[in-house]
Amino acid sequence: MMNRDREQIEFDVLFVGGGPANLAGAIHLMKLAKNRGLDLEVALVEKGADIGSHALSGAVLNPIALKELMTNYREAGCPIETDVRGDEFYFLTKSRRYTVPFVPRYMHNKGFHIISLSKFVSWLATLAEDLGVNIFPGFAGKEVLYDQDDRTVIGVRTGDKGVGKDGIPKANFEPGIDILAKVTVFGEGARGSLLQAISKKLPIFEGKMPQVFETGIKEVIQLPETNYFSNSRGNDIHTFGYPLGLNTHGGGFIYEMKDHRISLGLIVGLSYQDPMLDLYEEFIRFKRHPFVAELIKGGRVIEQGARTIVTGGYYNMPKLAVDGGLFVGSSASMLNAPALKGIHTSMKSGMLAAEAIVEAFSRGSFTRETLNHYHQLFEDSWLKKELYIGRNFAQAVSKKGLVKFLHVGAQYLTGGRGIFDKMPMKEDAKRLRPLKDVRLQCTTTHKKQAYDGVLYVDKLTGVYLSKTQHREDQPGHLIVHDQRLCVNECFETYRCPCTRFCPGNVYELEIDDKSQERRLRLNPSNCLHCKTCDIKDPYGNITWTCPEGGDGPRYTVV
Ligand code: SF4
Repeated sequence: MMNRDREQIEFDVLFVGGGPANLAGAIHLMKLAKNRGLDLEVALVEKGADIGSHALSGAVLNPIALKELMTNYREAGCPIETDVRGDEFYFLTKSRRYTVPFVPRYMHNKGFHIISLSKFVSWLATLAEDLGVNIFPGFAGKEVLYDQDDRTVIGVRTGDKGVGKDGIPKANFEPGIDILAKVTVFGEGARGSLLQAISKKLPIFEGKMPQVFETGIKEVIQLPETNYFSNSRGNDIHTFGYPLGLNTHGGGFIYEMKDHRISLGLIVGLSYQDPMLDLYEEFIRFKRHPFVAELIKGGRVIEQGARTIVTGGYYNMPKLAVDGGLFVGSSASMLNAPALKGIHTSMKSGMLAAEAIVEAFSRGSFTRETLNHYHQLFEDSWLKKELYIGRNFAQAVSKKGLVKFLHVGAQYLTGGRGIFDKMPMKEDAKRLRPLKDVRLQCTTTHKKQAYDGVLYVDKLTGVYLSKTQHREDQPGHLIVHDQRLCVNECFETYRCPCTRFCPGNVYELEIDDKSQERRLRLNPSNCLHCKTCDIKDPYGNITWTCPEGGDGPRYTVV
């Protein structure tokens, strides 16, 4: 007989998500609790097969929060690829590069560390485990559990395993577990699905601006032994301009890693308006720019991935506490957008949450009022100062043409206030313009790029290089609510932009030769968990849900 009873496990504190915010929070919590003589049972669940499997980031690490967490992080084995020895900042035209005469102060990275986020969080997890945190990779938090009052968070239910495509449990069925805790900390990363669910029940975004995002596609490339960085002044390169132009915000980055590897990526603001924009094609176009192509010549892509980044910052942070729960890291918009950095801000948010949790245990109270001490700690911290300076930045860079520079320049000179404060933000999904309106104004050429399968790989090879895996026979984790809307209205108005904004080639438009009938075909097993579709679909017709725990990318070095 199949056992479908749900097991219940109880902890004092549960961290949902194995990113830098939660891991730094868990480590800090264990240290603080020990100092206070508190004996806490702490758990952390992560949907990736291993800690680090789903971690993808730039990644230049400002070590400010890490130093607060432990002064001896180098001796403790922190996996640093290289230190930043200099910054290079270029404006790219189609065929040339121009050095930007000054690098904005918040992008001065000299002395910071270039890391693989995947390796970094995996290292943090070992430290957390050594301090007694129970870490469960391969368990996706599928549902938030509430107390009888229907508003106090009491934990999460992890997803069932072994359910067939038809929704019927198979012989290997394992029911999800109810993990209960006095305090649950949500650090799921950008566009967390549990955060979305909570926001439908509790007014955590009341009075806030909509969260806005960028999507980054990134690769690790193995270069020949003699390469650009053998003689370069800087090893932290940022670009803007080509291929996105000035009407779509975003830019490229290239960071030197160890062993002649680089981390290279293109970030595209999801406020873009042109429905024909293909994020992956833009990424390849960036790589084919003469400057970048020369830099990566002779290289080989060894890993690829994609992820959305939350960029709105201070004005779209959710309320940080609910009864029994706290929000940290990218889930809570804790990213310093002007500095293009979110690891140190995420870590600090987790650490502040840990301080509030210890206080709550000392008082024996886990209400929103008590846990909201986290908000006060945030307000008094350097984290608030950083985020406050960038409070209008995402709005400014989403402006078109030179207007964006006017706003960014004014903000630079006025500590973030700019021409006017609290610039409004619009949901990314609402920014796409109908095809007929943008045809004449397109800044991109939409010409398909050529691939060589080694240095320039197509989407499917990119998926292969992300080592993404999903069990095929499971209910689809991508919910397209109305397929007719896709192939009729969305096709007519936007030509199905999901087929272009998805970097995993998950959505394909098929047209029957004879009947000319259109059909949207889904390949969920290619999904990179970037969540762009959940954010950018103009009709809100796609919902990303968590597949079976352990599925998805298996990043190891990006
Ligand atoms: Fe990203 Fe959605 Fe495509 Fe998955 S299906 S790779 S979440 S855009």
